[in-house]
Amino acid sequence: MKRILVTGGAGFIGSHLCTRLVAEGHDVICLDNFFTGSKANVAHLIGNYRFELVRHDVINPYHVEVDEIYNLACPASPVHYQYNPIKTIKTSVMGAINMLGLAKRVNAKILQASTSEVYGDPAIHPQPESYWGHVNPIGIRSCYDEGKRCAETLFMDYHRQNNVRIKIIRIFNTYGPNMNVNDGRVVSNFIVQALKGEDITIYGDGTHTRSFQYVDDLVEGMMRVMATGDSFTGPVNLGNPEEFTMQELAEVVLRLTNSKSKIIHLPLPADDPKQRKPDIALAKEKLNWEPKIKLEQGIKNSIAYFSEKIEG
Ligand code: NAD
Ligand code: UDP
Repeated sequence: MKRILVTGGAGFIGSHLCTRLVAEGHDVICLDNFFTGSKANVAHLIGNYRFELVRHDVINPYHVEVDEIYNLACPASPVHYQYNPIKTIKTSVMGAINMLGLAKRVNAKILQASTSEVYGDPAIHPQPESYWGHVNPIGIRSCYDEGKRCAETLFMDYHRQNNVRIKIIRIFNTYGPNMNVNDGRVVSNFIVQALKGEDITIYGDGTHTRSFQYVDDLVEGMMRVMATGDSFTGPVNLGNPEEFTMQELAEVVLRLTNSKSKIIHLPLPADDPKQRKPDIALAKEKLNWEPKIKLEQGIKNSIAYFSEKIEG
């Protein structure tokens, strides 16, 4: 049994991680400022003596005795991270400094939820960890991309300079239950639009690609990374290498919801990466991990969740 801090624990991914960690018998402190997360995501854990929910903003220091830290606090949807870009970069950079300082003081192992966005609009496809990326440092996505890149730098420097035990994971597009109905990312948008009979909004011509990972696969991967020996720091990609165009995703959602919604095309946002697909050779080798849940199954599970949310 370990004492584990999860920042951003009331968010989409964090809530699944907290649930898994509590189920495995750990003591979990879930820290969140509820910017995009909600108490509802962890309501089933409140009252469990292994679970504590703390309202706190990671841009301020936090002190607690823990064995492990999962640092997830940061809005992840372009709509939300662009709402207050200065706050987004503060969250990534100051949040990383505060959590790394804590890890150093209490000798905790710490995992950073980094992102495929560090590869920007990639010129290499699929993306291996060795690729340094193609990121616009002054665009509307930079607050997120460069914030996450700086956080990776901080993790590596705390490791090299202070021997902090670190793990960096680069998460590729992940979806599933507990995403906010108003999250703004493509999977939740399409499902919610299809269920409400509203137009399905494809940005651009629909040929952009993403590779979608179901949240349960990610949580399994994250826990395997945390359990690796101290010599393994990553970065390691965690994602599902099955790649789809946004047109294909829209068609899957329409078919599985039996919706009569129409597809419409809206302008593509600036700097939107044209393609994305993880090379997961390193995760397979080091973690004996690969995603198990196919897109259709994951979308069906998500439809069930969003149907309940919308009706409720
Ligand atoms: P999310 O927005 O649902 O969760 C983020 C959580 O962090 C929310 O609960 C939010 O309230 C909290 N938060 C934000 N700023 C905070 C602050 N300053 N202090 C404390 N809490 C704060 O998003 P998610 O999809 O669950 O993403 C979780 C993490 O995984 C993020 O760091 C994100 O960058 C990373 N990630 C996610 C994806 C994905 O596809 N879901 C892909 C790559 C990386
Ligand atoms: N997208 C879309 N319609 C939407 C929301 C997003 O076509 O309603 C597109 C978006 O332009 C991008 C892809 O879907 O090409 C994935 O977008 P998302 O915001 O989910 O994640 P990210 O761009 O961060 O990978």
